[in-house]
Amino acid sequence: MKRISLVAILLVLFPLVTFSRISIRIFARSKPSSLIVSMVNGDCMLFDGTAGEVRLSQGETVAVTRYGDRVIYSTMSGIRGVSDSLAFTPAASGTLFTVRAPGSSEPEKSLSGTLTVTSFPGSLRILNITTVEECLPGVVRAEAGRYGPSDYYRAQAVVARTYIYRNIDRHSLDGYNMCDDVHCQVYPGVVTDSVIVNACRSTSGLVLADRDSIMIEAAFHGNCGGETASSADVWLAGYPYLVSVTDPWCSYSPSSTWKKSIARSEWNSFLRSKGIAPGTEGAIYSANAPAAGRITYRTVQGKTLWSEEIRLRFGLRSAYFTLSDAGDSILFNGRGYGHGVGLCQDGAKHMAEKKMSYNRIIGFYYPGTIITDVKNARRPVRP
Ligand SMILES: [Zn+2]
Ligand SMILES: [Zn+2]
Repeated sequence: MKRISLVAILLVLFPLVTFSRISIRIFARSKPSSLIVSMVNGDCMLFDGTAGEVRLSQGETVAVTRYGDRVIYSTMSGIRGVSDSLAFTPAASGTLFTVRAPGSSEPEKSLSGTLTVTSFPGSLRILNITTVEECLPGVVRAEAGRYGPSDYYRAQAVVARTYIYRNIDRHSLDGYNMCDDVHCQVYPGVVTDSVIVNACRSTSGLVLADRDSIMIEAAFHGNCGGETASSADVWLAGYPYLVSVTDPWCSYSPSSTWKKSIARSEWNSFLRSKGIAPGTEGAIYSANAPAAGRITYRTVQGKTLWSEEIRLRFGLRSAYFTLSDAGDSILFNGRGYGHGVGLCQDGAKHMAEKKMSYNRIIGFYYPGTIITDVKNARRPVRP
């Protein structure tokens, strides 16, 4: 009953789906059974649902462990307790704490906002209740890398913000908004990289919408190899703004070309699995079929070989390639890195280095979209 009352209080304070507030499941991949929380800057109030509130001063550390359907906690200064759930709330703005999962490979995170910890079957459920703008720089750094120019990060901030808002109900059945793993977008915690923080601030609240003011599917990838892919070809879901565009901006990057060879025997067994007799597929090799741009599929004896399927089967860097018959092996000559749909990160970075604005970068990779405040945009109605 006490757990219900705590959850009810938090839901009143932070409704699950609302603009700007967001709850993120922390350590969603490793799902730890124990947690160390350290106060780095400022004090926190620890509400344990049983004994009331305890003030945790800067420098204090709390160990939390799952104990059946409850949690045990103990502080460095000797306060202990058992509770259905815990809530760490900042005593003042600017409070920062770190969380670490002992024995997990996931790195420590700095967090702000409120942290709740409850026992779940097999693990702790650790939720960080914060705001979209507060968590955005971390997401942008994780997805876009470090040491890029401002307008590259501005474009990435608008894209990442759009992704968060469009998918804000993704985990609603689980009781939170997003997880901190690749399933949603990686969230490494609060970051302080000034270029990224400023890029997020200067685009605060801005998202990408289509002509009907619906937030777009803001796909992005590492390097398109000179031509982005249409979403209809890759995911069989077409959007007017996720169409193929010729990209002159990413060829400088080492990721723009790649080569890989696989054993002929591996290739033959793949052909057989598709109902194709090895030795009859000669027309698909580059010597016989000069490539012109991305090839979505090839046909042999009426059977279809999808480039994306070949990519997944052989772990290729992209589905943008030609193939050559090299006797005992098959050689792939490829371009780009990733699925190729939407914004090309290497290209966007280079455009920004050439002093092009984030609006122009976004307009190039998502043609026909508008940049607008999230208050003026809607989420798509899901079937
Ligand atoms: Zn997720
Ligand atoms: Zn590109």
